[in-house]
Amino acid sequence: MPNKPGRRLRWMGGNIFLAAFLVTLMLSLVWITGSNRQPKSIPYSQFQTMLAAGQLDNLSIGDGQITGGIKHPTPGEPDKFVTNQVSPALAQQLSQAHVTFDGTPPASGLAVLLGWLAPLLFFGALWYFIIGGRLGGAGGVLATGKSKARVYAENDVKVRFADVAGVDEAKEELKEVVNFLKDPASYSRLGAHIPKGVLLVGPPGTGKTLLARAVAGEAAVPFFSISGSEFVEMFVGVGAARVRDLFVQARAQAPAIIFIDELDALGRARNAGLPTGGNDEKEQTLNQLLAEMDGFDPSSGVVLLAATNRPEILDPALLRAGRFDRQVLVDRPDKTGRIQILGIHIKKIKLEPGISVEEIASLTPGFTGADLANLVNEAALLATRRQAEAVTLADFQAAIERIIAGLEKRNRLLVPKEREIVAHHEMGHAITAMALPDTDKVQKISIIPHGIAALGYTIQRPSDDRFLMNRKEMQDRMTVLLGGRAAESLIFPDVSTGAADDLARATDIARAMVARYGMEPSLGQTSYEPQTQHYLPGAPDWHPRQYSEATAAKIDSAVHDIIEAAFSRAQAILRANILVLREGARELLHEETIADAALAKLAEKVPAWEDKD
Ligand code: ADP
Ligand code: MG
Ligand code: ZN
Repeated sequence: MPNKPGRRLRWMGGNIFLAAFLVTLMLSLVWITGSNRQPKSIPYSQFQTMLAAGQLDNLSIGDGQITGGIKHPTPGEPDKFVTNQVSPALAQQLSQAHVTFDGTPPASGLAVLLGWLAPLLFFGALWYFIIGGRLGGAGGVLATGKSKARVYAENDVKVRFADVAGVDEAKEELKEVVNFLKDPASYSRLGAHIPKGVLLVGPPGTGKTLLARAVAGEAAVPFFSISGSEFVEMFVGVGAARVRDLFVQARAQAPAIIFIDELDALGRARNAGLPTGGNDEKEQTLNQLLAEMDGFDPSSGVVLLAATNRPEILDPALLRAGRFDRQVLVDRPDKTGRIQILGIHIKKIKLEPGISVEEIASLTPGFTGADLANLVNEAALLATRRQAEAVTLADFQAAIERIIAGLEKRNRLLVPKEREIVAHHEMGHAITAMALPDTDKVQKISIIPHGIAALGYTIQRPSDDRFLMNRKEMQDRMTVLLGGRAAESLIFPDVSTGAADDLARATDIARAMVARYGMEPSLGQTSYEPQTQHYLPGAPDWHPRQYSEATAAKIDSAVHDIIEAAFSRAQAILRANILVLREGARELLHEETIADAALAKLAEKVPAWEDKD
């Protein structure tokens, strides 16, 4: 999550200004009340004389100054004195010389403080005016503990369940929450149990946020939302204050929904962060949230919803009974779900009559709701660019390709030698896939560069939505991934860098087989690596390694062996089909793209591969 420095600085600026203001106020008060009884200032020499004459008592010796009472003050004059100390040796010398003398007063505390405060006040004020806060207002200086702008209630949410598709089970579960919110009184009268917290769990883009809003829309209650990542950047204590405030406000407007998006950013297991140390602020905020959850009574009519795509890293305390004790899975849609979601988004564009939504759905396995919304938009953009009357199936197909492989960049040209390498590389992927009937069917091969990283691409169409894979399928997939480099190695004297991404992906699979799925006999059915990072590949998830050096070496060598075996297998398949490889590459160089009938003709020439060992 991006840290926004502006926000943090704003709080700091606000706090300094506030502190400076209060300190000045306090000091002025002390100063004003004290000024009535100012002590009489006397020179040190006079002090010595009066002391010797027994006229002083109640002395108090301070930092460079002596204060005390005068026993018989002249009427109308103060009965107190103050003098500035002079070092005893010097004082003795001076009094022998019979001169009047005095020390210099120490810089007064007030002056010192003002010396510090003036610049602070100046910058504080400058900051304050630049940022444009309003004193006492919602975002102003005196409102530190109050929620800031993001905690607001949306009173009239327009989203309904009909706007969310393909997640029927989740909707079914949430309908109960809606019924409760519509009539909390009768629920509690009958003693029905309503969960305090419902956690929506699923990959990004599956509609979790949308569903939470739909619950508020259906029940017609205020929707208080806040995102966990917002807490991370806050000043210590502010996050906790906001959580408190969120609950206070929601209770005041009950029935209401509190929705915490990206709960994982806030509720990450304590001590599971990076080794660079914890985040006190997050911990305080989390503790406050837990305390609020324990303290509230669902019959008050407030329901807490939260969403996360990383439930596995949540602090277990959040999932305990009486907290987020109900979890609702919001998964990627299946084909029927995709048809329904496309139905929702397609309403917004003009379609060519007779276009088959089912066909589009079958081309997009694995797409989430957000991907599909994006797809419809892209297809409409493509049709607009052609200045067409309506969006056609071809627009959708092009949009799918764009989304899968990045934006088509026809203008990026390869030199002929590079094109030749890429053509053989892609054909290597295609032929290994054709020879292994259990892998996804090849849909299209192209050497038109796509996106930044891919010089060519081979699109394999998954035959169905897959949730489980067996070991053979994983081996096949690695063989296809390594088919590109294997083809290069057979045709050219050297191999190229074009296979970097293939190698990384194949290695990931091999590592997972060994360390996570227990598929390597020599290492047994042990899981060495926790299953994290499914959804956020960019974020490094630090966890202590829980196996020995010896095991690490075994894992590394097992991974190496699996990859090498897959590579040899790819080479063997391609050697057996070397004529098709050369012919296909030639055709690819000429046509740039092979699909449909031409592809089928090529596939016919590749017999199913049989491993012999
Ligand atoms: P999440 O919170 O799970 O990451 P969002 O709710 O933010 O996903 O979804 C982003 C957008 O994608 C939504 O605004 C909506 O346009 C579209 N979308 C996602 N899931 C669905 C769905 N199940 N049905 C319809 N549209 C969806
Ligand atoms: Mg979301
Ligand atoms: Zn490749």
